[in-house]
Amino acid sequence: MIAAPDGPREADARSVELAGGLAAVRARIEAACTACGRRSEDVGLVVVTKFFPAADIARLARLGVEDVGESRDQEASAKVDELRATGLALPRVHFIGQLQTNKAASVAGYADVVHSVDRGRLVHALQHGADRHGRTVDVLVQVDLDDTDSPGPAPGSPGRGGVGPAGLLALAETVAQCPALRLRGLMGVAPLEGDPRSAFDLLARLSAQLRAEHPGADEMSAGMSGDLEPAVAAGATLLRVGSAILGSRPARG
Ligand SMILES: *Cc1c(COP(=O)(O)O)cnc(C)c1O
Repeated sequence: MIAAPDGPREADARSVELAGGLAAVRARIEAACTACGRRSEDVGLVVVTKFFPAADIARLARLGVEDVGESRDQEASAKVDELRATGLALPRVHFIGQLQTNKAASVAGYADVVHSVDRGRLVHALQHGADRHGRTVDVLVQVDLDDTDSPGPAPGSPGRGGVGPAGLLALAETVAQCPALRLRGLMGVAPLEGDPRSAFDLLARLSAQLRAEHPGADEMSAGMSGDLEPAVAAGATLLRVGSAILGSRPARG
């Protein structure tokens, strides 16, 4: 069960903590934008709530958060069901984690945006699921920034996902052909090693190539708690920030 909404006078301690984290991250985004001459209205914030309870999503929604990110279907769908039962207006749900094809239909039932689309079979499964639910789902093609010339998901980077840069345009075209999906742009995660700026610059070049063929695909999802500044500098339009707002997650088992 989700706790009753906090009264306007007495916010609970967790809401105060979340408000502080949000303010700090918004200040970082503002400063990063100022440093490179961008407008902060052009940089969206997806608050990544994976591993945290539905009650935190409710608190964030009351603090004005309009976009949340989740990375596992089972966890995300349970939280969405819990929140729907409260009648609270749900923030937009972004699915950002690696997605198994057999979970795609479930995700298409509640996700507004899927950031992690990296292969044709997954595109078709999402199309099928969205169609069955009578929904339209926004799609970002995930690019593997560790790999520069593989046409498919890179075998060398298990657990991260992404199509090789050489496969981006063909996969984007597959998405564009699907009536229940809307191609909105691309997504990338900087490699753990090395300078994130070169990875984000590559993503920005790929974004320009994508927009040349699909002008509406103008979203670039890049930047997390540790590297949002270089992502903003490279042109990110969507940041995915978790721990800097919610605190550190319990270690993955
Ligand atoms: C967990 C996750 C994030 C958020 O990471 P933080 O370092 O907590 O900000 C962003 N993107 C993806 C794909 C993730 O899985």
